[in-house]
Amino acid sequence: MGRGHPECPERLDAIHDHLLATGLNAILEQREAPLVDLAEVALAHSSNYVNELKDLLDQVAASGESRALDPDTIAGPGTWRAAQRAAGAAVAATDAVIDGDVDNAFCSVRPPGHHATRDETMGFCFFNNVAIAARHALDVRGLERVAIVDFDVHHGNGTEDIVAGDERILMVSFFQDPLYPYSGGVPKGANMVNLPIPPYTRSGEIRDMIEAQWMPRLEAFKPQMVFISAGFDAHREDELGQLSLVEADYEWITRRVKDVADRHARGRIVSCLEGGYALSALGRSVAAHLRVLADV
Ligand SMILES: [Zn+2]
Repeated sequence: MGRGHPECPERLDAIHDHLLATGLNAILEQREAPLVDLAEVALAHSSNYVNELKDLLDQVAASGESRALDPDTIAGPGTWRAAQRAAGAAVAATDAVIDGDVDNAFCSVRPPGHHATRDETMGFCFFNNVAIAARHALDVRGLERVAIVDFDVHHGNGTEDIVAGDERILMVSFFQDPLYPYSGGVPKGANMVNLPIPPYTRSGEIRDMIEAQWMPRLEAFKPQMVFISAGFDAHREDELGQLSLVEADYEWITRRVKDVADRHARGRIVSCLEGGYALSALGRSVAAHLRVLADV
């Protein structure tokens, strides 16, 4: 994204370093992310979008120079390959979990995806990794119902744009409001559970809202698989938002989501990294998330 941009390569280093320092990496099975098949991407994005983005990012790669697609979203020479690998990780993780090869999976990837709409790049996002993986589970792997849980501090407008009205998907989220991208106050479909949260809301209140508004809908929906847009920028130390979650809150949210997956979905969860820009807090929060997913 360029020098000084919060969506930086050091984010993944911070996660990896913390997993090394805590010994968690020795417990987890790690796999490299494959490149996505563009036919999979077209399950969530229009073919025109995929073709035009490929042409544009190929030009950027050939020129060797970065180009701003909007004031927040900068494409560099490695962006096309990175976007293919991030989406490829989500699809490969979905296959591995459905095949019973692994119990669940976390995709430590960038660029993130949840602001990418069916037809537009936005907010550091190019391919909507979670929406692609969810559609893969439904359209390619034959599941009938999947849930998407988004706990990034920003509204997952791209995912909402893609899945609103698709009754095979239930999406539950919370997000700070007002905050970029200034949407989500009015859900775009009956399959969306949006919880706008005022700045400086205490984490206990957020837990109460999750309990009261996410959990009954998730229980009633009985998802066969759960996808998580795991953004950690609602953390107290993260300066992109004004919420005050800490590691214990991410542990609690993950536990509640895992309870649903264990009851209805044979524990099947694929979680994909979205935001999280305070590097130390990101490493610690991902570790808290993974300890619950891995039962350690
Ligand atoms: Zn975010």
